[in-house]
Amino acid sequence: MEKETVSKASVYEEWLEKNRRYLWNPFTQMKDYFVHEPVIVERGDGVTLTDVKGRTYYDGNASVWLNVHGHNRRELNEAIIRQLDRIAHSTLLGMANVPAIRLAERLVEITPPGLNKVFYSDSGAEAVEVAIKMAFLYWKRIGRPKKRMFLSMKSAYHGDTVGAVSVGGIDRFHAAYDALLFPTEKVGYPYPYRYPGSPEACAQASLEELRQKLEEKGEQIAGLILEPMIQGAGGMVVMPPGFLKEVERLCREYEVLLLADEVATGFGRTGEMFACDHEQVQPDLLTAAKGITGGYLPVAATLATDAIYEAFYGDYEEMKTFFHGHSYTGNQLGCAAALANLDLFERDGLIQRIRESGEALDRAFEPLRCLEHVGEVRSLGLMAGVELVRNRETREAYPAEERVGFRVCQRAKERGLITRPLGDVITFLPPLCVGKQELSEMVQILHSAIRDVTEK
Ligand SMILES: *Cc1c(COP(=O)(O)O)cnc(C)c1O
Repeated sequence: MEKETVSKASVYEEWLEKNRRYLWNPFTQMKDYFVHEPVIVERGDGVTLTDVKGRTYYDGNASVWLNVHGHNRRELNEAIIRQLDRIAHSTLLGMANVPAIRLAERLVEITPPGLNKVFYSDSGAEAVEVAIKMAFLYWKRIGRPKKRMFLSMKSAYHGDTVGAVSVGGIDRFHAAYDALLFPTEKVGYPYPYRYPGSPEACAQASLEELRQKLEEKGEQIAGLILEPMIQGAGGMVVMPPGFLKEVERLCREYEVLLLADEVATGFGRTGEMFACDHEQVQPDLLTAAKGITGGYLPVAATLATDAIYEAFYGDYEEMKTFFHGHSYTGNQLGCAAALANLDLFERDGLIQRIRESGEALDRAFEPLRCLEHVGEVRSLGLMAGVELVRNRETREAYPAEERVGFRVCQRAKERGLITRPLGDVITFLPPLCVGKQELSEMVQILHSAIRDVTEK
C-alpha cells in the first residue's frame, strides 16, 4: 500500500514534468498551473474522475459542461466499438455515411420546429462560425445584401475562433483581439442581480435597448445571436421569464434572423432538451455541441430552417453552394456516440430526472444562500453558478486580484470536487446522470470550500 502510494506519486511527478515540457493547456496561465498541482486524469467512472495518483474527485463541471450519462458508460463505449468495427471515418464532402444521416434525422426531430436541416462541424465555435456565415449569405442570396451586421449580447460567449469572438462580449477573453474582429452591435443581457430595480424592470430595460437598436439599425442587421435562457461563461445568468419569447417577437418584427447558441444549454442541461423549449421559441439557426455525444467525442451541428437552406440551393453555375466544411465533419464514431446518447436519454427518462435533480439542487443550495459572502445562487436545471461578493448588503464585488473564485475552486479540489470559476462565480454543472446522494455530497463540498476561503 505504502509502496504503491510512493510509486504513484513519482509517476505523477514524471507526467507533470512532461506536461511542463510539452503541453500548453487552454484557458490556463501556465505559470501558476504548475504551482497548484494540477490533476492529471487517468480514468473516469460515473460522476467521478481518478487521477494518476489514484485520487478520486467528483467531476463538478462535467468536464467543462459536456458529460451527460457519466464517464465510462457501457452503452456509449459499446456503440463506439461497434462502429469502430465498421469504419472510423469517411468524408461528408460530396458523399455521406449512415450514422451521420441517422443522427441528422434525430436532431431534426428533437430540436424546435422549423429547424429541418443539419450541417455538421466539430466544435461549438465552428457551429457558431457556420451559423454566422449562413445568416450573412442568406440575406445576400435573397437579394438583401444590406443586412450584414450582427447583433450580440454583452458578456456573451460563443467560442474562441475569430468569428465567434467577434460576437462574444467577455472583455477578459475578447478585448485583446479587438483589431482582428468584425464589427458588431451589442445589447445588454438582463442581469437582475446587478440591476438597481426589480427583475421585471431589468428585463424591460434590456428589451427596450434591443428594440431601439433594431429600430435604428434593423435594416442592416442579419441576425441576433444569443445564449437562450441562461448565459453560461458570462456568469450563469438566467433570463427573466418571458424575455426570450419577446426577443423572438422583436426579431420577427424587424426581420432579423434569430441564432440560438445552444452549445451549452442543449441536450437537457437546463431541464428541457433545448433551452428554447422553455418558451416555445423557434430560432432560424441553432448551434449544438457540448452534450451532443454525451461528452464523449467532438461533434457539433448547426441546424437551419428550410428558408435558409433553400437560399443556397440551385444549379451549380449559380454559385450558391455553401463553401464551408471541416475534415472530420460527420465523423462516424462521433455520430454513433451521439445516437447512443439520444437512446439513453429516452431509455433513462433523463429529461424528467434532470428536472427532479434540478429541484433537488435548488433545495441543496439553500444553506449556501445564507453564507456571508454568497451574493446570489442561480440555476436552471443542472446549470448553476454561485456568485461570491465581498459585501452581501451592497453587493460589492471582491477585488479581482484576490482571486476568490479561483481559491474556492482550489479548496474544493482539495476536498474532492473539481470545478472552475468564472471570476467570482463558481460554476456547478454535474454530469446530468447525477444521483441525489452524489449531488448533495458535491454541494456540501462546495459549501465547505466557500466557507474555508471566505470566512477565515
Ligand atoms: C462552450 C461554448 C461554445 C464553444 O464550444 P467549443 O466546443 O468549446 O468550441 C460556444 N457557445 C457556447 C454558449 C458555449 O458554452
